[in-house]
Amino acid sequence: MTFHSTIAGVPRIGPDRELKKALETYWRDSSTGRALASTATRLTNDYTDTVLNAGVEAAPYAGRSYYDAILDTSALLGTLPERVLDIEDHANDGLPPFIDRYFAAARGTKTQPASAMTKWFDTNYHYLVPELSASTRIQLEDQAWLEDLRDQVTRAGESVRPVLIGALTYLSLSRTTDESDALDHLEEVFDAYARLLPRIADRGVTWVQFDEPSLVTAIDKAVLDRVRAGYEKLAGIAQDKGLKLLVQTYFGDGNQAIELLSGSGVSAFGVDLVYGGTELPAWTGDELLVAGVVDGRNVWRTDLDAALETLKALKERGPVAVSTSCSLLHVPYSLEREGDLVVRDWLAFGYEKIQEVAVLSRLLRGEETDEDKAAVEAARAAKADRDSSDLTHNSEVRARQDAITDADRTRDDLKVRREAQQKSLNLPPLPTTTIGSFPQTSEIRAARAKHRKGEIDDAAYTQAMRDEVADVIRRQEELGLDVLVHGEPERNDMVQYFSEQLEGYLSTEFAWVQSYGSRCVRPPIIYGDVSRPNPMTVDWYKVAADLTDKPVKGMLTGPVTMLAWSFVRDDQPLGVTADQVALALRDEIDDLVAAGAQIIQVDEPAIRELLPLRKEDQPEYLKWAVGSFRLATSGAANEIQIHTHMCYSEFNELIDTVSDLNADVTSIEAARNGMQVLKALKDEGYELGVGPGVWDIHSPRVPSQEEVDTLVSDALDSVDPSLLWINPDCGLKTRGWEETTSSLKVLVAAALSARDKLNA
Ligand code: GLN
Ligand code: ZN
Repeated sequence: MTFHSTIAGVPRIGPDRELKKALETYWRDSSTGRALASTATRLTNDYTDTVLNAGVEAAPYAGRSYYDAILDTSALLGTLPERVLDIEDHANDGLPPFIDRYFAAARGTKTQPASAMTKWFDTNYHYLVPELSASTRIQLEDQAWLEDLRDQVTRAGESVRPVLIGALTYLSLSRTTDESDALDHLEEVFDAYARLLPRIADRGVTWVQFDEPSLVTAIDKAVLDRVRAGYEKLAGIAQDKGLKLLVQTYFGDGNQAIELLSGSGVSAFGVDLVYGGTELPAWTGDELLVAGVVDGRNVWRTDLDAALETLKALKERGPVAVSTSCSLLHVPYSLEREGDLVVRDWLAFGYEKIQEVAVLSRLLRGEETDEDKAAVEAARAAKADRDSSDLTHNSEVRARQDAITDADRTRDDLKVRREAQQKSLNLPPLPTTTIGSFPQTSEIRAARAKHRKGEIDDAAYTQAMRDEVADVIRRQEELGLDVLVHGEPERNDMVQYFSEQLEGYLSTEFAWVQSYGSRCVRPPIIYGDVSRPNPMTVDWYKVAADLTDKPVKGMLTGPVTMLAWSFVRDDQPLGVTADQVALALRDEIDDLVAAGAQIIQVDEPAIRELLPLRKEDQPEYLKWAVGSFRLATSGAANEIQIHTHMCYSEFNELIDTVSDLNADVTSIEAARNGMQVLKALKDEGYELGVGPGVWDIHSPRVPSQEEVDTLVSDALDSVDPSLLWINPDCGLKTRGWEETTSSLKVLVAAALSARDKLNA
């Protein structure tokens, strides 16, 4: 059987975050294993049914997943980290036998650290990084996975298409513990899949999907040759067993994959025609093209006319099936749950996208129903409305943007600034500070929940937060920190807090997407020109500043991060939206300064995340990303000290970008990776202030005095003492007060003793 429509992948968390709730219950009390297993089963079954009932002909099936698809692959390939292997199989309650080892890798145990987690390509989803070494042996542990597959095929028939993470992608995303090359295992992983294919065939399916998003990135020719050989081998086995292989890429140009695998025996290529361009010079038309024309990672309704035109042009060249650009993991389940959204007609979440795929596929084959014709009309009307809407065009914002000049992105020379700031701030050498948030205690969260439910009024809520700020200021004074923060208790999230106060941004109520494991986020949607009707943070700044004589930092989220953790407009370049956010922040900085702030921190933890996957696309991104940060911050007078903060990634290769941001002080996550960033700073001859984190805040462990002293003295070996700041790795909102106080004591003591040595 062949198919004319499908989607590239499915979400697993559940429309009401059912999996999250079941996981959390199970982690509290493992006797609920059966409930967890049945929730996961129901969610995967329901999704398959949703896809097939919508008239889509083939449904991807990755198996019941309890946390993450890469971790699932590690379980399947027998490559869970060595340190969890002696954890015993779980009781037989419907969960896979490896489940406790699996969760130990995902979350750590009392004695063992969790695996590292990092961003899935340029998305905001995090996967669990496999840990391999030269001695890793790939051993299929496929029994649970195959049973799931059998059940699913029994239920839903051969339209079910098992999905596996391709060998290249799995290994490209792996780390090794011994400096060996994870790709040394390439042939072994292909061999394991070669053993798996006949067992899959026995379960009665026709198609098998291998996800290879790494093929949209630059890969060495020698590696590509080995990948081709691997797929030739798999395709040979598939043919013998009556199976067909689909190799699926996403997030970029699929040409490299097509060129590599044409004629290899692979039967279909899945490509992203939204983010990868619609030209496919390498496609000969001999294999099925699974055309990802429906955007799988953003929330906009598809322009069905444009998509159909693309599909028709491709169909002239060969067989085409309609699909999404990537897995629907990245978008919320369905619009149905949302109440009144201003721009509802412009949107399509997961379920609506599935329907778009079905409609397009019928249109392409000339089998459209009256309902399909109505759907096309509705899409046209929505597009016309969106194109001409006042909601997207704010002429004041546009006029202001047109008038931006280079001077608006430029501050005076850093030496001039430094002198002015030293005069006005008069800070000691090696000043100490924190990154912004202090523990978001259960009291704070409870107050927020009560406020949301209307159980306490605005005044009571504000008072609770004011008390919290007062407490945080007092504690920082007691600790002897030099530059204080208000602690951010009023912020639910560093992006959402601002998005709720900016025009052009929309918050949703139920539109959750998985961020990792049991964690979900509700990214706001930027639908129109962004502007700032009122100051956003000034009152809170004042509350804090009035309580102390020490300088208090104003805290803002930078333009790139405001985009990276939102659903963005697709009707204008990202840089244009970023500049609009920047202008709003620029006004906020003016207001903070008017209120007395001398130091303002503009956080950009996500600046690395949006970096395009292809090298040739990176300079353009960096140009607008840096430009928008500078637009936000360059209105500040010389004596105003601009800080920024970065984390979640390694910035060693981006030090020149960090330097281009031209922030007077940058705090960077560093403790966790052994301060590698110091070498980069030194090599670059970095001339601005910098605070490499000296306390890894990602675990409750309190660092020893000796440890932090060593990190400070290492930092002094690479950074001029006049430029060095002493601070933790990141914000403290996930920490408790006990470890926070103890660790900050250590940090301040380290700064003081280093200061004494400098003065001696
Ligand atoms: N200012 C923010 C905080 O401290 C920064 C958070 C972050 O880097 N992700 O919470
Ligand atoms: Zn951070």
